[in-house]
Amino acid sequence: MKRYIVANWKLYLSVAKSVQLAQQLVRFERAQKIGRDVEVILAPSMLALSAVALVLKQARSKIKIAAQDCWIADEGAFTGATSPRELRRAGASFVLIGHSERRQHGGEDDALLAKKVAAARAAGLKIIFCVGETKEERNAGRAHSIVRGQVRGVKSEIDLLAYEPRWAIGTGLPIEPHEAAQMHEVLAKEAGNDVPICYGGSVSEKNVAQFLSLPHTNGVLIGTASSTYASLTAIISNARKLSERSLV
Ligand code: PEP
Repeated sequence: MKRYIVANWKLYLSVAKSVQLAQQLVRFERAQKIGRDVEVILAPSMLALSAVALVLKQARSKIKIAAQDCWIADEGAFTGATSPRELRRAGASFVLIGHSERRQHGGEDDALLAKKVAAARAAGLKIIFCVGETKEERNAGRAHSIVRGQVRGVKSEIDLLAYEPRWAIGTGLPIEPHEAAQMHEVLAKEAGNDVPICYGGSVSEKNVAQFLSLPHTNGVLIGTASSTYASLTAIISNARKLSERSLV
């Protein structure tokens, strides 16, 4: 089974550090012959995206680029916005939409996210759609219905689904694997079994194999641990071992 490793570099790295990490990863990819079994997708900051894309292109790398967000239109009177079409031209193949930090800090709701999904698809970007509940919603027993509701309006348009419980992001406290498995089953039923599902929320080299071994789980979305060479390559290596085992 193909595994997806989505590295969300958020606003952790400068442009220079993003380029440096991309160069190191390309060397790692070549040395380790990372290929079809693991799809590595880097999501650099907007300002670093073109430079990272150039590194990958020059190295003829199979590593893909995701933008961390996009706007609902390709051009117009939208100060500060980022055009999906220009992201595609800059080298992005994917875009993250609905990340909880955008929902939380940018006040993005389901209606706006659906417009972003439509604009990104029209521009030829593949959609990594992020969903997840708050701790209060989970404690109230509403996690499954909340997350199903987040997916419902966009499910026919997405290429990858990332389940990221909000309270597990950046806290070092991932969800219990059996709870992730329950949610992934719910999501597989809601979105259709052919949409790959990633888990995100405090994934590290120590727990990645556990999450990747769950049913209905095709990959991981990693924030903090993806921004250093040592931990990102350890995660990729662990994912590869699992893929190799599942081929045997
Ligand atoms: C994320 O940003 O989507 C994320 C999962 O972050 P972290 O791995 O740091 O929890």
